[in-house]
Amino acid sequence: MRRTLYCGNLREQLAGQRVVLEGWVNRRRDLGGLIFIDLRDREGIVQVVVHPDSACFAEANQVRSEWVVRIEGVVRKRPSEQVNPKLQTGAVEVAAEVLLVLSEARTPPFPIDAGWRGEADQSVNEEVRLKNRVVDLRRKRLHENLRLRHKVIAAIYRFLDEEGFISIETPYLTRSTPEGARDFLVPSRLEPGHFYALPQSPQLFKQMLMVAGYDRYFQIARCFRDEDLRADRQPDFTQLDLEMSFVTQDDIMELNERLAAYVVRETLGVELPLPFPRLSYAEAMNRYGSDKPDLRFGLELSDVTEVFRGGEFRAFAAAETVKALVVPGLLPRKEIDELEAIAKAKGAAGLAWARMENGTLTGGISKFIPSRLLEHLAVAEGQTILLVAGPWRKTVECLGAVRLELGKRLGLIEPGFKFLWVVDFPLLEWDEEGARWTYMHHPFTSPNLEDLPLLQTDPGRVRAYAYDFVFNGSEVGGGSIRIHRRDLQERMFAQLGIGPAEAQEKFGFLLEALSYGAPPHGGIAWGLDRFVANLAGEESIREVIAFPKNKEGKEPLTGAPAPVDEAQLKAVGLAVLEEA
Ligand code: ASP
Repeated sequence: MRRTLYCGNLREQLAGQRVVLEGWVNRRRDLGGLIFIDLRDREGIVQVVVHPDSACFAEANQVRSEWVVRIEGVVRKRPSEQVNPKLQTGAVEVAAEVLLVLSEARTPPFPIDAGWRGEADQSVNEEVRLKNRVVDLRRKRLHENLRLRHKVIAAIYRFLDEEGFISIETPYLTRSTPEGARDFLVPSRLEPGHFYALPQSPQLFKQMLMVAGYDRYFQIARCFRDEDLRADRQPDFTQLDLEMSFVTQDDIMELNERLAAYVVRETLGVELPLPFPRLSYAEAMNRYGSDKPDLRFGLELSDVTEVFRGGEFRAFAAAETVKALVVPGLLPRKEIDELEAIAKAKGAAGLAWARMENGTLTGGISKFIPSRLLEHLAVAEGQTILLVAGPWRKTVECLGAVRLELGKRLGLIEPGFKFLWVVDFPLLEWDEEGARWTYMHHPFTSPNLEDLPLLQTDPGRVRAYAYDFVFNGSEVGGGSIRIHRRDLQERMFAQLGIGPAEAQEKFGFLLEALSYGAPPHGGIAWGLDRFVANLAGEESIREVIAFPKNKEGKEPLTGAPAPVDEAQLKAVGLAVLEEA
């Protein structure tokens, strides 16, 4: 008796045939002597009917939810009034003749059957879900998400293979690759006191592959970054990493947007218009208050610095930047306070406001608002003006955060997929804490050669050949043209405060590689988890990862990280300090 097909694949054409099905009991109901079992496998559920005179009636009476059974029976068309339109198998049922229990099951910690019946799953605390991930993974939503992820990866392989890319694996046990996070260290047993670092990305290896002449590389790569976990980070996560030789920034963007369009078409049947819009970093920040703007809604920021310049409203008169949002609707005071809290959390001094009500400006700072501002912003009846003033970057970012919140609260976000490129990033940013210039992308990114003379005189104005790939307001990718000349790379290290000795000690292998004839090259990495989560319409990347860590970086299922025993520590020459 071998399985003939998946439960979820039974259709009317099979009526009259004998089938053998294997799967889980999604639900068992006892209806006036008849027993109904919804039998489930990864393709879906099908209704099995057991008559009182069937030879397996007694067995059927015993089974419970999540038991694993094998059933042999005959497919029947359901009478039209009993067809279940919610199920793909809803036009048929199977009259069971043999039923064999393959495994019994404990009652699951939470029900998982509803999704498979086309109903909403009960919401369950995430920690409980992660602890019981095997049961959780049985749910339809997670089956769908993981299959979507698989399809995305399969489509990436097809497309890049067609385009002449070669997939090459790079090591997990390696040396530090700086991407701005802390390294995860792995102690060496053979050389106590020495450590491997898990790669934060395959960055240096892919560059060396270009020097080695592979020309087009890609990898679905796991990356490891020991960062404080923000809401949607994982200490290990997956990138689509790629690199190309003898290309310009435009070539890389063009290939990647075709790839994205191909993947979205192949997986969801949605056409993305090409090319994707491109915004400079400065424009994205000025118009949306973000370097990863969500273009699913408008509500753009306006610059009103000049309107207030030298005026009587002291707080704004001398500010480097004053930005305004004109919001549809008269926002109640309570809501403005909540928005102000968001702006302040990002560092704003405050959120100024005024409302246009019955033809006059009222509330907040209305009496300080010059009439020129109303013309400038074309403020209309029933609108609220929100303003932030201060240093440029902080000001736009604070109002950008308010914009995002308003997008959600006012239901402005249109459904769909909005992609764009953000280009012309600054090469360097000033690190207040360290009181020095630091890289914005990574230290191997090429400055825009036009700006090279500024590197000495005005480093903050040097643009990079760097680009970010933004999808519905999240940065799903980032890359750059790399420095391919040893002298420039050395100069860059110096600019970043990495002296020759340190450069040699940490990146000697790269400098060496660059001295053997390096092609101009560049590439990108996509955050695959976020890309798939956005396609799946999931808020959290944990919904598209089979075994994710929780928000504290722990894996509740296996209990990692966990202490190890003395002998293991000793073998690698380590001792754990007494807890402080
Ligand atoms: N290695 C970079 C990152 O992980 C991506 C790139 O520059 O290709 O962000």
